[in-house]
Amino acid sequence: MKKFSIVAKDDRESLLVAKDIQRRLFNGAMSYSEKCPDLVCVVGGDGAFLTAVHKYINQLDSVAFVGINTGTLGFFIDYTVDQIDRFIDDILNKEPEVERRRLLQADVISEKGRRSYLGINEIRVENMLKTQTIEVFINGEKLETFRGSGLCVSSQAGSTAYNRALKGAVIERGLEVMQLVEVAGIHHAHYRSLGAPLVLSGSNTIVMKSDYVETSLLCFDRYAINLKGADTVAVSLSDVTFGIAHYEPVQFMRNLSDLF
Ligand code: NAP
Ligand code: MN
Repeated sequence: MKKFSIVAKDDRESLLVAKDIQRRLFNGAMSYSEKCPDLVCVVGGDGAFLTAVHKYINQLDSVAFVGINTGTLGFFIDYTVDQIDRFIDDILNKEPEVERRRLLQADVISEKGRRSYLGINEIRVENMLKTQTIEVFINGEKLETFRGSGLCVSSQAGSTAYNRALKGAVIERGLEVMQLVEVAGIHHAHYRSLGAPLVLSGSNTIVMKSDYVETSLLCFDRYAINLKGADTVAVSLSDVTFGIAHYEPVQFMRNLSDLF
């Protein structure tokens, strides 16, 4: 990998580390290319990693991502900042194993047509202002009519993020699944829905049809759009993948126990 770029979290330490990495990779005969890198170095945490993947979302076939963490270890990030010498050495001298992961895709259907959005962690339909009624179909079969604030569909990678706060299950790395979890579901004598996390194989499509979308948001990772005018959202695992460059084997259980 000859051309690199850097995406850093916007704090003093991350920016200093980014400068240092740029200088040292430059000295190691790599060239900097913000537009067409082969390798993107992420400085920060899992949040910065999400920003980096979205920045290069239209060229994911030709880039791989490697992270160095200025906080604690992350799920997408293999190095801590005190391992910076090894980080530089590995990039300059080793061939990485590139792990490819599928993104989540939300197809939003409105009178104007269909638009697609990609997410690494999760796709959510949420409304903070008004209760939503959402009909949920799995592969064309009706599951339920949900009422509440919203629904969250997460990937394996996203299972340790928002999904975990919603009491969804943590999913082992390598499993290609989607998980549907409720956001503040209403359960009483009149309204009832599954009320438990639903883990589905990655070949499914989850369709959500909402009765009121004037103030609903479609959230994908750190981003959101207004769903006004669009009442149907179909979520599936995309054929689009992103690559994480690993120079050493990943220790998922260690990452997991570092999380809490
Ligand atoms: P953010 O500051 O980028 O992220 C919020 C926290 O979630 C940070 O501590 C971040 O880790 C962590 N995180 C992100 N992806 C993760 C993953 N796959 N596994 C474990 N932890 C992860 O916030 P944002 O920009 O609003 O949203 C980005 C993501 O954060 C969303 O996709 C969502 O999953 C998650 N989030 C979670 C909650 C919650 O749990 N209540 C609320 C908002 C957002 P770092 O510190 O390493 O960056
Ligand atoms: Mn973290």
